[in-house]
Amino acid sequence: MRTPPGPPAWATRLVVEVCAGAEITAPILRWRRADRAPSSGVTRQAAGIVAVTAGSDPVDQRLTLLHELAHWLGPEPRRRRWGRVGHHDASFYARAFGLYAAHGIEPVEAVAREGARHPGALRHARDLGLPGAAEAYLARRDLLQQRAASRRPPRVVVAEHRVRLVRDGRWTRCAVCGVRIVGPMLARLRRRPGRHLLLATG
Ligand SMILES: [Zn+2]
Ligand SMILES: [Zn+2]
Repeated sequence: MRTPPGPPAWATRLVVEVCAGAEITAPILRWRRADRAPSSGVTRQAAGIVAVTAGSDPVDQRLTLLHELAHWLGPEPRRRRWGRVGHHDASFYARAFGLYAAHGIEPVEAVAREGARHPGALRHARDLGLPGAAEAYLARRDLLQQRAASRRPPRVVVAEHRVRLVRDGRWTRCAVCGVRIVGPMLARLRRRPGRHLLLATG
């Protein structure tokens, strides 16, 4: 059976319910299906449209629609370009997490899902005191710190020196540092002498 066109009944109801609760005009809801699990959405306040591309995961559909409705309820961002993501600031997340909790998404689940999509959400979720948010925020910060640490400048293992090419069986090495030299680098060093240094990363 083919999915009928247009938004499902629960989504239309949710838009009406959220907008009535906020005493704000409901947007036109555009809905299409995508052959993937996660959903995505966009809100065009000036055009009066909330558009959702719905994946197969029902919780993600609901979260995506509520996320877009949080944009819809918010102040219209100035100088926003078509398709650009609006403000994901503290007041946005207070609104969004409020909608998630009020419309059937458990806070722990909302934090995990929103944080997976927009890592910046974790700090706001933590500030809002949502369950699991402080831990998720710290875990994310640790991950970023680990990544930064692994990008430390490489350590010099052998100081810069003039390359001296020697044969080693089928290979050519630098006689000073022992490094194997191949390909374009070898071709270049054969044409004219060069210098290099040996670095270690990590
Ligand atoms: Zn957004
Ligand atoms: Zn060398």
